[in-house]
Amino acid sequence: MTHTSSLAHGRSYLAIPGPSVMPDAVLRAMHRAAPNIYAGELVEMMPGLTADLKRVARTKHHVAMYTGNGHAAWEASLANVIAPGDKVLVPATGRFGIGWGETARCQGAEVETIDFGKRSPMDMDRIAETLRADKAHEIKAVLAVHVDTSTSIRNDIVALRATLDDVGHPALLMADCIASLGCDIFEMDAWGVDVMVTGCQKGLMVPPGMSFVFFNDKAEAARARLPRVSWYWDWSPRAHAEEFFQYHGGTAPTHHLYGLRTALDMIHDEGVEQVWQRHAVLARAIWAACEGWSTSGSFAMNVADAAHRSNAVTSLRLQSPNATALRDWVEGQLGLTLGIGLGMAPPGDPSWHGFFRLGHMGHVNGQMVMGMLGGIEAGLRALKIDHGGGALEAAAEVIAGG
Ligand SMILES: *Cc1c(COP(=O)(O)O)cnc(C)c1O
Repeated sequence: MTHTSSLAHGRSYLAIPGPSVMPDAVLRAMHRAAPNIYAGELVEMMPGLTADLKRVARTKHHVAMYTGNGHAAWEASLANVIAPGDKVLVPATGRFGIGWGETARCQGAEVETIDFGKRSPMDMDRIAETLRADKAHEIKAVLAVHVDTSTSIRNDIVALRATLDDVGHPALLMADCIASLGCDIFEMDAWGVDVMVTGCQKGLMVPPGMSFVFFNDKAEAARARLPRVSWYWDWSPRAHAEEFFQYHGGTAPTHHLYGLRTALDMIHDEGVEQVWQRHAVLARAIWAACEGWSTSGSFAMNVADAAHRSNAVTSLRLQSPNATALRDWVEGQLGLTLGIGLGMAPPGDPSWHGFFRLGHMGHVNGQMVMGMLGGIEAGLRALKIDHGGGALEAAAEVIAGG
């Protein structure tokens, strides 16, 4: 039996890899009159806010806040440690790695890129070879994306630190955790990361508009070496956010700060380790379903080895009928929005339609994931897309087993 009316009326679900689902509590916290930015509640809130942000990043060092998105944090991080003419190494595993490198190039850096393609993680042997060849230590920083949101590859930052140490190379280890923070395990200090950038609209569950650069004392020493640092991007005054927004830095992103306060309360009430665990179980359920669908037809996971997959985002391939048809169907018929493929096909090439992504970062739970997977199953059936069976049973089995 067919039905022509849409089943989309009801609460919709935006399952794209950022912006992520915004908790009602975060939105409620933001729905208020403009606060005084010079004294009172907002100013008094700042020291606790930065402390709680650092607890998510697992660092005792410094954090600078920016009114800007992840691209702003890319630029800010580089502005503090890279002088024009300095060399940076970009081990890229997708479009976001390439993007951070492009940002560095536009800031005057000489960028050496090792492109590991779109389906495999960084190869530490190749990185070691490049670092070893740099006898004069011209490479000042390695720009590593923890989870590349285009390919959904998760890179081993611990192994990258070990590679730098084995070679004895002093370059800063800089990590982009914009997709992964609060989703995949990340320990800035224990892993020896010198600079980490993240945004507020993915695992941190706040509407887009704020980003953060975390840095340790080694990175601070690299900043001190620069002949000059951009007034706006300078992280030093911003590392004292309560003063920065009062005296140096212009108007604070007031409502984002309230939203962030609530989001951090939610994360710490649940516990950072529990948050990671929830993401891990939900990701395994999603992979179980995707592996089931992949046993027939053209459905395939972009990352074959589960060890290199992220708990925040899953990149998928579906050629015929293509992923765009499936995305359109689940959005129009079910109120479920899936992510477009990003960076997987040349710009303008119609093969772009053969890719899509699932965002499972932040405010996501078991019923949402089962609903998303059930929606995809319905779409595959409605569009008569050849696919393997048992996907939902496999996902339910993971959820049932916790
Ligand atoms: C989303 C994302 C970015 C870009 O962040 P914007 O807020 O869109 O500028 C960069 N890197 C990664 C890994 C991301 O997931």
